[in-house]
Amino acid sequence: MRIAVLGAGGKVGRVLVPALERGGHEVRAIGRGDPVDVAGLDAAVDFTTPDAGPGNVRACLEQGVPCVVGTTGFDLAPLGEIARERGIPLFHAPNFAIGAVLMMRFAAEAVAYLPRAEIVELHAESKRDAPSGTAKATAALMGGDPPIHSVRLPGLVAHQEVLLGGEGQLLTIRHDTTSREAFVPGVLLALSRLSELPPGLTVGLDALL
Ligand code: NAP
Repeated sequence: MRIAVLGAGGKVGRVLVPALERGGHEVRAIGRGDPVDVAGLDAAVDFTTPDAGPGNVRACLEQGVPCVVGTTGFDLAPLGEIARERGIPLFHAPNFAIGAVLMMRFAAEAVAYLPRAEIVELHAESKRDAPSGTAKATAALMGGDPPIHSVRLPGLVAHQEVLLGGEGQLLTIRHDTTSREAFVPGVLLALSRLSELPPGLTVGLDALL
């Protein structure tokens, strides 16, 4: 596939671009200040910032290019509307790491039996949005409104604990992302399935597994 990577110079982009090239894809790297010139490409992937993401994705959709969005911290619903009107798929996963998807599933299952739950999400200090998209998605899957605590510190990549407390017991479900390689298989999966998705917004790796 011919794929634009927006945010190619970022922490995720720097891992993703070589992985896509190793997989035989042709990559157009787009960084801050570069024109979003993607017409004719098969797909665009955005891992930028909550400020830049909406404009980037809109520009790609307006050029008729389906998008995979990793950037978190902004509302994708209006872009989903544009994608639907134009008959283009738009995919977003709040977390492209398979272990995180399993953590969310297990937490949703556990809360039926241990309803007193809280979420602690811990990320690199460069992550601008809080709470994380994964924490919000986990809370939504858990059906209630578990409190979310956000930690931003150097030395962290992306980590989340779901704590479920009962009388005399505590269940902790924890996922640790120790390198950005964790996100690559999920992005590759989304790209490989993008053309099969319906027009408009699809959210979550679960929809592809
Ligand atoms: P990062 O290291 O800050 O990288 C962001 C990159 O985007 C930087 O290279 C930045 O350039 C570039 N950029 C800024 N504005 C741009 C624009 N208008 N057009 C093109 N590029 C632009 O962040 P990261 O850790 O890679 O994460 C990126 C985003 O993905 C964040 O929102 C993060 O929360 C999210 N994320 C999601 C997942 C997931 O699984 N869904 C996983 C990891 C991260 P400068 O350096 O010049 O500013």
